[in-house]
Amino acid sequence: MSVEIIGVRIDRLRSADIRERCAEWLLQKERRRLHQVVTVNPEFIMEAQRNSEFRKALNAAALSLADGIGLFFASWILYGWRSRLFRVTGVDFTWMLAELCAQNGSRVYLLGAGDGLAHAAAAVLQRRYPTLVIAGAEMGIPKVVAKTSDLLDKELCEKICSARPDVLLVAFGAPRQDLWIAHNASRMDGIAIAVGVGGTFDYLAGAVPYAPKWVRSIGFEWTYRLMTQPYRWRRIITAVIRFPIAVLRSKFF
Ligand code: UDP
Repeated sequence: MSVEIIGVRIDRLRSADIRERCAEWLLQKERRRLHQVVTVNPEFIMEAQRNSEFRKALNAAALSLADGIGLFFASWILYGWRSRLFRVTGVDFTWMLAELCAQNGSRVYLLGAGDGLAHAAAAVLQRRYPTLVIAGAEMGIPKVVAKTSDLLDKELCEKICSARPDVLLVAFGAPRQDLWIAHNASRMDGIAIAVGVGGTFDYLAGAVPYAPKWVRSIGFEWTYRLMTQPYRWRRIITAVIRFPIAVLRSKFF
């Protein structure tokens, strides 16, 4: 089952169901196709209002997860408690995939984030799951490159595929990561799951402080982010002010 929040579909699945679905995709070895996973937060939904290409990519994803307490409240307000979304963040999903891959021998490729962070994040995942096979870890496209050429994308995809990953984690930030996966899906031969994971590598590598568990459990990591990364205030306002207003407008007007 899924719900729609101002034009964006989000799947209503618990962690166990998500895990089961991913395990099935990974077990499928023959005629494998790519399954794009998106980890949607309120900023994604606001961006999707003005970026139709992004909205299409989100709605076409094989799995659309609710990242952010804002989506839980929005689904509750729009459709009632029984239809509320369950929260799975990019970091949670990455740990889940790492565990699954370590158990079934699938290979993971980490792409994106700042210099050395993909490597550092891979080391952290491998420390917790020693049997996890890292197919590759690299920055891929440096942040300063505003737009890549089709040729560069093609070469990067060939490089990634030659490492034979089953799972590709892409940390280019949204909407870039999700559009990049959607545009290059046909080039990702043999990969079962590709997911945009946002700032996950930064957190895993310890480059950005992660809010304590109790702060996360009450859905208040945005206040923590505001304190630790105040330059993100614009995005935080989008998530905690513009998004709730848009949700209420979609319900009542
Ligand atoms: N990033 C990147 N290329 C870009 C934009 C972002 O590699 O063009 C990286 C950035 O360095 C960070 C990650 O993507 O490691 C997530 O970025 P951001 O913090 O903006 O996303 P969020 O955590 O909010 O999803």
